[in-house]
Amino acid sequence: MKLRSLVLCFLCVLLASVVNAFALDREAFTFAKYDLNVRIEPEQQRLGVRGTITLRNDSPTPQKIAVLQISSSLSWSSIKAGGKPLQFVLQPYTSDIDHTGALSEAIVTLPETVPPKGTVDLEIAYEGVIVLDATRLTRIGAPEAQANSSDWDQISPKFTAARGLGYVAWYPIATEAADLSEGKNLFEVLGRWRTREIASTMHLQFAIPSGEDEPPEFLVNATTCPIAHEVQHLFAADCTYRLLGTLAPTFVIADYEIVERAGIAVHFLHGHDASANNYADAAEKVIPLITEWFGAARNKAETADLIDPNSAPYESGSLLLTPLTSADPKLAGLTAAHQLTHAAFFSPRPWINEGLAHFAQALYLEQQRGRQAALDYIGLHSSAFAAADQQREKQPAAPPSEDEVNRSLVNTTDEELYRSKAMCVWWMLRGMLGDQALKKAFASYHPEDDKEPSYMPRLIQAQTQRDLEWFFDDWVYRDRGLPDFKVASAFTRKTLPDGYMLTITVENMGSAGAEVPLTVKFDGGEITKRLVVRGKSNGVIRVEVPKPPEEIVVNDGSVPESDTTNNTFKIEAADASK
Ligand SMILES: [Zn+2]
Repeated sequence: MKLRSLVLCFLCVLLASVVNAFALDREAFTFAKYDLNVRIEPEQQRLGVRGTITLRNDSPTPQKIAVLQISSSLSWSSIKAGGKPLQFVLQPYTSDIDHTGALSEAIVTLPETVPPKGTVDLEIAYEGVIVLDATRLTRIGAPEAQANSSDWDQISPKFTAARGLGYVAWYPIATEAADLSEGKNLFEVLGRWRTREIASTMHLQFAIPSGEDEPPEFLVNATTCPIAHEVQHLFAADCTYRLLGTLAPTFVIADYEIVERAGIAVHFLHGHDASANNYADAAEKVIPLITEWFGAARNKAETADLIDPNSAPYESGSLLLTPLTSADPKLAGLTAAHQLTHAAFFSPRPWINEGLAHFAQALYLEQQRGRQAALDYIGLHSSAFAAADQQREKQPAAPPSEDEVNRSLVNTTDEELYRSKAMCVWWMLRGMLGDQALKKAFASYHPEDDKEPSYMPRLIQAQTQRDLEWFFDDWVYRDRGLPDFKVASAFTRKTLPDGYMLTITVENMGSAGAEVPLTVKFDGGEITKRLVVRGKSNGVIRVEVPKPPEEIVVNDGSVPESDTTNNTFKIEAADASK
């Protein structure tokens, strides 16, 4: 009897913990506001933080428990509300959202149940070290050197750089575990966090002991950071982040020298003068193109050197961290076009923000080396996502209609889509509208008014008489995959005195429609026209040529396509002479 009740009791404990595990909703609260004092001690590689965070219950159910997570190399020292210590349970939580591959998780019992949309202020304190650590990469088999050049974040006497969410949880977060071994899972977790945090704010008061020597330079990617001063060997800066979901708060401390130009400042490490000047020169030359398309810079672009020449570059807004000496000097202009676009144009929507920065790179290549160079660059990007697209069609992750919405440019968290595919969409829009109309649409865009996914499409629609709804529906609001064009038929008729009228039917076997260029080649020349072919439809066009037509090529590479092997159509000499 006694044994039996023990077994039963054991079962109830087990059941209770199972229930708890289900009840713990790590993503119930939005971290609406951070107000933190951050002390960084490079000599000790230490970070100490105290301050207040405001959590808002964005779940539909009342919450009594809040989860707070920081990097596993940091530890919680206190969590209070209204000055009273709260009960909390600490546990390590395995998650690849942090470079160490784990988080120090505090499961906090709140003083009162927080109803949906209700908020609670928590006073928090934690500290610890941030050292070079690439555990999350090495444990899935990445070679150590490669892992370290990707996860290069650290606080150290020589060089300090720490990126926020997705690299180092140096400020509190709460997400379900991210797993790098599961394909795009980390991006999905990051995407959910960014969406929740889109309108959140963060206020940081940094304090850095600066020793006897001249203080090192301090760089952040904050929205504003107006107050920075040094008093008695303590450097202080007062920084604010708005629209937190669009940025991962990042700080850098190093003995930088600086080359300053109109529109850009390049912070470089000792001895890297030549590379820094090369980049600044290249950037200066790109500025007129970027201004012409996206207007004058909203803020100065900042480029900062990384100490390890193998470090992977990282961008956040118009701040670019990159090892200056190992960058290919020939690619400086291309990199600068991207960075300067971020300094000139901002959108909280990744397909606009990143898509346009990549689009600007194609514009730059066209200006420097001609249209074909731009099309080659676009082709390089589109072949990457076209391959992924075909893979997905074989193994859809969700029902087709749901998948179409999840993977749409307005919703996706997939970088390949909101960078590469978005770039192609902008390039196609340029082809349909022309440069002037598209520039006008950009000039009328105000990020603070962008409250609906349809805001930008409406601004573009306002610049043209043509109906673009079908295009936005196939490419922006939904992911209808890619077109697949082929010339279904071509009939030639001789006209007087010695011209030829060609009637061409183009079939689109894919589900996404597009306006596609079509070139008719003849002895001594060619004529290019544009033709709209909707998804799973045919389009017909007539082209008049002065000599017998020899070949038709549909799509010059400006429209991403699932299959480009069927784009050339040969016209038999006998046909043409009829
Ligand atoms: Zn970018």
